[in-house]
Amino acid sequence: MKYGIGLGSNLGDRLQNLQQALTALRNWHKGPSRPIRSSTYLTQAVDCQQGTPDFYNMAIELESDLSPLDLLFRLREIESQLGRPSQRQRNASRSIDLDILYADDLICQDQTLTLPHPRLHLRRFVLQPLADIRPDLILPDQQKNISTLLAELDSEEGPLQKVVCDLFDKHPEPVC
Ligand code: ADP
Ligand code: MG
Repeated sequence: MKYGIGLGSNLGDRLQNLQQALTALRNWHKGPSRPIRSSTYLTQAVDCQQGTPDFYNMAIELESDLSPLDLLFRLREIESQLGRPSQRQRNASRSIDLDILYADDLICQDQTLTLPHPRLHLRRFVLQPLADIRPDLILPDQQKNISTLLAELDSEEGPLQKVVCDLFDKHPEPVC
């Protein structure tokens, strides 16, 4: 199955958290090469208390034999290894957040897992990275592709700053 995964961090060494999550995620990738990955973006926290640190966000596409629920449990394990407490307040700052954005054309709505991710199409910090890797993708619950959803998005989020780094660069600088 092809999985879209959204990664975010706004606590601790944020870029190192992303990089370690990427390394862990590669264990679950079965494709011929590495997972495709987006640029990294510096983004303002949405729906969070004032003073919440900015996030770094990115998206990857992973090919895996894991079922969606098994993948979700693996993502939770990685989150916990990277210091995210299992009991947490909604919208609290987090060392790492790993969300399944989509799983092929699957639509699923149960208590544990909703696919495609229910807020994906409303968030610039998800749509922009996803547009880097899958601009033409039409999700099973949408009529329009990712780049059109991004172009037509009406959201209060400020513009995202692309970060020049390959996640191994120790001193990344935001551009534009
Ligand atoms: P958020 O990512 O919305 O800030 P959490 O990371 O705390 O919040 O996730 C809350 C719950 O959302 C998780 O326990 C998980 O079971 C559930 N969930 C539902 N759908 C998804 C999905 N597509 N990807 C990741 N988690 C999901
Ligand atoms: Mg999450």
